[in-house]
Amino acid sequence: MKLSLPCCKTKLICTIGPSSDSENVLRDMLESGMSIARLNFSHGTPEDHKKDIELIRSTAASVNRIVPILVDLPGPKIRVGILENEPIFLERGNIVTLTTEKVHGTDNLIPVTYRRLTESVHPKSVIYLNDGFIELEVIEVKKNEVACRVISGGQLLSGKGLNLPGARLFATSPTKRDLELMESALDEGIDIFGISFIESAEAIERAREFARKKGKEIYIVAKIERAGAVENIDDILQVADALMIARGDLGVEVPIEEVPALQKELIMKANIACRPVITATQMLESMAENTRPTRAETTDVANAILDGTDTVMLSEETAIGKYPVETVSVMARIASVTESRRRTIRSSAFIRNLLHEDLRKGQITVPDMISLNVSETASALHAKFIITPTETGTTARRIARFKPEGWVIASNPRTSICDFLFFSYGVCPTIMETTHTGWRDSILGKLKEEKLVRKGEYVIMTEGRFSKGEGSTDSLSIITA
Ligand code: PEP
Repeated sequence: MKLSLPCCKTKLICTIGPSSDSENVLRDMLESGMSIARLNFSHGTPEDHKKDIELIRSTAASVNRIVPILVDLPGPKIRVGILENEPIFLERGNIVTLTTEKVHGTDNLIPVTYRRLTESVHPKSVIYLNDGFIELEVIEVKKNEVACRVISGGQLLSGKGLNLPGARLFATSPTKRDLELMESALDEGIDIFGISFIESAEAIERAREFARKKGKEIYIVAKIERAGAVENIDDILQVADALMIARGDLGVEVPIEEVPALQKELIMKANIACRPVITATQMLESMAENTRPTRAETTDVANAILDGTDTVMLSEETAIGKYPVETVSVMARIASVTESRRRTIRSSAFIRNLLHEDLRKGQITVPDMISLNVSETASALHAKFIITPTETGTTARRIARFKPEGWVIASNPRTSICDFLFFSYGVCPTIMETTHTGWRDSILGKLKEEKLVRKGEYVIMTEGRFSKGEGSTDSLSIITA
C-alpha cells in the first residue's frame, strides 16, 4: 500500500464525455487533481457506459490510484423531441405549440417527451425550455397539445430540457429506465448512484430496495433539483448517503435568486447530518471554451468550499469542453488556496459551535463527543494526520465535517467503503485490515517512510478499544512522531 495524498482536501468530480474519454486525458486529469469520475447516463448506450467504466478502471490502475465512479441516472427529465431543421428560434410574443405526439418538430410545433404534459399544465402555467433560457406561458390546453406564448425567446435544439416549476408531475424518480440502467451498472460492479429529480425520501428507498433485491448494497447521492426535494430535505438526509446540489435544474425549478441561499442551507444541513455534499454545475463553465475562468466562477468555487462543501463537480467543462485538464488544474488550485485560508476565515466554526451548544445542554451523543474532541485536539496541536479505522465510514465522515487542517486517513479493508470515503473532504481512504495488533505501527511507519510526517509532529489516532461495530469509536490517542 502506498499512501499518496491528493493535491487538495476538497474532492473533484469530473464528468467523463467525448473530451475526456481517452487514457491520456484521463491520466492528465487524475494528475491535475481529479478524485472521482462521473458518468452521466442521460447520454450514451449501455455499450458506451461499459467502455467508459473499463477505461476509467484501467487508467486508474495504470497510475496506481483508486478512482470511484459515480453513475448519475437521468430520472424523469422532460426533453424536447427531434426537431426537423435545427436550431429553431423562438421569437418573443409568438405562439408555439408543444405536442406530445412523436412528430419531427418545426418552428412552431415542438414535440416533447412527456406524454402527460396536458394534465400537468393549465392556462397561465409557466414552461421553461433550454435550462430556463426560453420562457413560455400556456394559453390553451388541448387533447395532445399545449399552445403557448413566448415570453423570453431564444434558440432551441433537439433534446434540450423542459421544466415545469411547481407543476404536478406524473413521472416519478427512479423511473423504469433508471432501474434498467442501474441494473446494467450493478452488473459492472458500480455501487454509487446519483438519483435525479427526487422529491421525497421514498424515491431513495425504492432505488435502494431495487439494488437489494439484486443482492447489492449501494450508496445513493440524492440530487436536489426540485422544490419538493428542498421541502423534504430532512427526511431525504435520513436515507440518502450524500447530497448533490444540482444547481442546473434547481435554478429553473425554483426562482434562480434562491439558489445561493439554498446552496448554503443545504450544505449546512448535510454537514450536520455527516453526509458528504457535492456542489455541482457551471462551476467553471466558461472554461469549456477558454483557458481561464471568470473571476465570478473562481469565487463561486471558493465560496462553495468555504460554505462547507466536501466535493465540487465539473460537468460540461470536462465532458465536452475544450480544456478538460486545464479546468481540473484550475479547480484544484482554487481549492488548495481556499483551504489554506479556511482557518483565518473560520468558515467551518458553525459545526463546532453547534456541538458545543449540544454539550452545554447535556444533549451530545458519544460519537459527536468523540469527533468534537478529535477536531479540537487536532486543531490545537496542528496535527498533520488523524488516523481513523472505520467500520462503516461514519467516524471518518463525522470528523471530516469539521474540515480539519490535517488529513483524515480512514482505513477499512473493503473497497466499497473506501470508494465512498473519497467523497468526504480531507479524507484519504486506505484499504487496510485493522484487526491485527500491528496496524498502528504499520500505518505510522508508512507516514514516516513516505516522509509525510516529521519527527516531533503530532498525529491523532482514534479507535474502538472497548467496543466493536458501528459507532464504536471510544478512544483518542495523541502520538508524537
Ligand atoms: C444539474 O441539473 O445541475 C445536474 C447536475 O444534473 P444533470 O447534469 O444530470 O442534468
